[in-house]
Amino acid sequence: MSEKLLEVHNATKIYKQGKRDVVALQDFNLTLDKHPASIVTIAGESGSGKSTLAKLVLGFEKLSSGRILFEGQDMTRASTRELKEYRRKVQAVFQDPFGVFNPYYRVEHVFEMVSKNFRLFQSDSQSRDHIEEALNVVGLQGEAVLRKYPHQLSGGQRQRIMIARAYLLKPKLIVADEPVSMVDASLRASILDVMIRLRDEEGISFLYITHDLSTAYQVGDQIFMFYQGAIAETGNATDVITHPQHPYVQLLIDSVPKPDPNIRWQGDIELPPDEEMRTSSKNGCRFYPRCPKRMNHCESNFPQLYQVGNPGHEASCFLFDGKVAGTPAPSV
Ligand code: ADP
Ligand code: MG
Repeated sequence: MSEKLLEVHNATKIYKQGKRDVVALQDFNLTLDKHPASIVTIAGESGSGKSTLAKLVLGFEKLSSGRILFEGQDMTRASTRELKEYRRKVQAVFQDPFGVFNPYYRVEHVFEMVSKNFRLFQSDSQSRDHIEEALNVVGLQGEAVLRKYPHQLSGGQRQRIMIARAYLLKPKLIVADEPVSMVDASLRASILDVMIRLRDEEGISFLYITHDLSTAYQVGDQIFMFYQGAIAETGNATDVITHPQHPYVQLLIDSVPKPDPNIRWQGDIELPPDEEMRTSSKNGCRFYPRCPKRMNHCESNFPQLYQVGNPGHEASCFLFDGKVAGTPAPSV
């Protein structure tokens, strides 16, 4: 059996919003092997629970129920020393890199801080060499960039610096929450290429979170399409995008140009805004109110994941349950 890097078991997060309970993430499962490194894409519209998953994996939020294991260990029960090690091995890259920089310090400060906090290097010259290397890995020239102030850099450069900072710690996993959504469309591909290179050459795995399907297609090994806190469909990114099976995912993919595996999608393809409010009291399929193929059964039962194609390609939809009578419900 191959060793596991990350295991998420039945992860559920419920937030209180006034009197209402919001199920931000429901019974989510994910397993990432240690080798080979891979990029797992989490895609979904705004409010579908993507950042909640990121925060849970990073340990910024506590699970309502479920378990998250890293290298076989339950991090909620880790000692202080183990937690510190975890904080090194699992790095975060966020949407807005500007927020991470202090505008009054040069870029080098970002690296000095991380190098000091984790006591990474024995000497200043050793530290310089590693920082240079990290910048080169993300395609930046060391010295010139380090002397700049944050406002003198483009969004794409700032995001590369955040990846270089993460790389300096030699992490096993980088949780990247919408890392390119504030970067010019023309520069997105080059940042995603950095991620692909880190996966292939440095063995770093990624949880890549996005609401932009075109980038999901570019990087994803495995993809999870979220709908209101639950998986609508998962599988190899190419399978899911070229042969979507869940009615929600079909609607999404139909609204974008037909993908050709040899052509990278251009431009922005955004998911439509979240229309439904969700509460813990709703038992049925979350997509019922919008589903063009809904059946009576779907209103009060929650579908498990059914295999719908190649191994690992699964959709959470009763259309794939041979035992559910196909009584169509009134149309949407
Ligand atoms: P995404 O990143 O996909 O846009 P989030 O994970 O941020 O989605 O949010 C999922 C749901 O959880 C949303 O309905 C959001 O309002 C709710 N939520 C997220 N964080 C909190 C919080 N700290 N308190 C209350 N509700 C929250
Ligand atoms: Mg988010």
